[in-house]
Amino acid sequence: MAAHIQELLNIGIPVLGDGGYLIELERRGYVDSGSGREKVGTGRGSGQFTPEVAIEHPEALRQLHSEFLAAGAQVLQALTFFATREKLNRAGYGAQTEEINRAAVRIARDAADGRALVAGSVSRTQLFERAGAGAAGQVRDLLTEQIRLLADGGVDFLILETFFHLEEMLIALECASASGLPALATMSFRPTLAACTDGHSPAECARAIAGAGALAAGANCEQDPAGMLPLLRQMRDASGLPVIAQPAAFRTTAESPCFTRMAEFPDSLETIQVSRAEFVRFGEIARQEGIGFAGGCCGCNPAYIRSLKQGIGRAAELACKPPLDAGAVTP
Ligand SMILES: [Zn+2]
Repeated sequence: MAAHIQELLNIGIPVLGDGGYLIELERRGYVDSGSGREKVGTGRGSGQFTPEVAIEHPEALRQLHSEFLAAGAQVLQALTFFATREKLNRAGYGAQTEEINRAAVRIARDAADGRALVAGSVSRTQLFERAGAGAAGQVRDLLTEQIRLLADGGVDFLILETFFHLEEMLIALECASASGLPALATMSFRPTLAACTDGHSPAECARAIAGAGALAAGANCEQDPAGMLPLLRQMRDASGLPVIAQPAAFRTTAESPCFTRMAEFPDSLETIQVSRAEFVRFGEIARQEGIGFAGGCCGCNPAYIRSLKQGIGRAAELACKPPLDAGAVTP
């Protein structure tokens, strides 16, 4: 399988992504959450959830890629989340920036073995949270460097994800465009569902992302499928682009609609884990509502991706039945 991501999006069935690597590898003992040293989830932390596992335990990362592939993922994301130089510097791995990015891409490519596309993951730098919009120039330099490393490593396209500020996302899209790599873009909505951190509604984000040349716009992380669905519908209606959805597998509350702001993050997440059945249901809805790309984020291990695939397949079967039967699953 060597299709371009655009060709997969054109088919009209949700492209099946993979799940969340850092939380799963933290549970397996290979990633540092930072919770033993400092408060996690503030955007100010040092070595929290950085991806040095790519050079320290490459076999663990490769194993998880293989499990997602076996679950049906059509795209494997190289574990290059939080792998810009300044973030890695705070974790003590700045000097290994090239090595970590290159190793992560190589491991994903090896695991995919031509049976899945490989996406480079590019996330927020955390500088907008720490230093404000005045950091825009440094952000551009950091993202340019990382995207060059991902392009050199041979990724097929980019997934820009977990951006809290639209302004930072638009810088990332500029850098992606300059690299020539296609990009899918997902915002994370925190602390509210009404707007991203710099005050833009989901619809405004989707329109701006479309205007900046992304192939798909959507949301990832922070909410479970039921919590994310209203955001995704707003983005779909606003942009005309395929929607990309990578929900988390953690239940949030009306008071705290994002899991990284809940008291259970990061050491008691098991107590708010949603069931796989919710991802079967999300797969059905994704197919019925024309979502272009469906995967998972934090808390989604390979079992959740298998469930998502099952839901997408079930919706296709239901679509072939008489309307009376199909009505039973209308949301
Ligand atoms: Zn996540």
